Amino acid sequence: MKVVFSRCESYSDVKEALKEVVDRLGGIERFVRKGERVLVKPNLLSPHTPEHAVTTHPDFVRAVCELIEEAGGKVIIGDSPGMQGIGEELFERTGIKDLGYPCVLFDKERTILKNGWLLTSVLEKVDRIINLPKLKTHTLTTLTLGVKNLYGLIPGVTKKKLHTKYPDPFSFSHMLLELYFLVKPDLTLLDGIWGMEGNGPSAGNPVRPGIVAGSPSALALDVEVAKRTGAGGFPLKRIAERKKILPSYTVEGDFRFRLKLPGKRWYHLLPSWAGHILSRLYRVKPGVLPEKCTGCGVCMRNCPAGAIEIKDTARINYSRCIGCMSCQELCPFRAIVPVYGLIRR
Ligand code: SF4
Ligand code: SF4
Repeated sequence: MKVVFSRCESYSDVKEALKEVVDRLGGIERFVRKGERVLVKPNLLSPHTPEHAVTTHPDFVRAVCELIEEAGGKVIIGDSPGMQGIGEELFERTGIKDLGYPCVLFDKERTILKNGWLLTSVLEKVDRIINLPKLKTHTLTTLTLGVKNLYGLIPGVTKKKLHTKYPDPFSFSHMLLELYFLVKPDLTLLDGIWGMEGNGPSAGNPVRPGIVAGSPSALALDVEVAKRTGAGGFPLKRIAERKKILPSYTVEGDFRFRLKLPGKRWYHLLPSWAGHILSRLYRVKPGVLPEKCTGCGVCMRNCPAGAIEIKDTARINYSRCIGCMSCQELCPFRAIVPVYGLIRR
């Protein structure tokens, strides 16, 4: 098993960089055979245009789709965004529709039950999954990379419910790992040409790590990227190491880029059992910036705990808030910021 990094400073060079990564992993034919239907799963969190670095860049997606077609595969692009009620504008604003491939919004498709998980029925129609995450920080899980990107295979409202069930970074990351081992993508290719630091996954600042990375193991890729971006306390990495579920792998190519991480997650440096307990006490909670809030109600409609009401601006009922930070993730106006500290439950 390998994790491969290739430097790439611009999307105009992305095809060459991706080809180099895939060739070092054994060539695209190792992952796609002639006639196979391939689900291409970018990170389409919300209908942001590409320069915001919230979503996988369309040039990156195009280059992967071309590689798949060169191997004789048939492409379907699909995702379920973080917020409810989004339609075709998701593919339009992110630049994905212009690529000309079939685009499927999972929220409009049937769901299937697999080992207790409600997943998109599109999984039944494809032979392969190629996972295309974006390199970003995340206020709840520290980073969002290959494993977290699979959360979009769960359509619509179910995602909201899981936030309620797994409110802290460690239990949420445990859940993500279960999902990962259930759906196991065939190949993960990371768009780190432009990424995001600070209050990701949508309200942080775009940065240019200048990297494309790939691996058949999204988990190995995530752990290796965390080590190389200064995110040693990344909960998913901590859990994977403690549970000894990381596959053995080698690394090819060089990459270092120190990301500004969201908030002070000092408890991530403790043994993971202690970090788990403290993360429930010392938690992140959302703070509304009234001068930026337009009262649009996106946060209220997507809050899994029903903790938000709009009175000119958003008001949060902290006795109900579970600290999932979906509101911050989805606010189109960057009007919600993470606040760290002890909160009463
Ligand atoms: S906090 Fe953001 S999402 Fe919520 S009402 Fe204000 S502007 Fe809209
Ligand atoms: S207010 Fe925000 S952080 Fe709290 S439960 Fe609702 S969406 Fe999650």
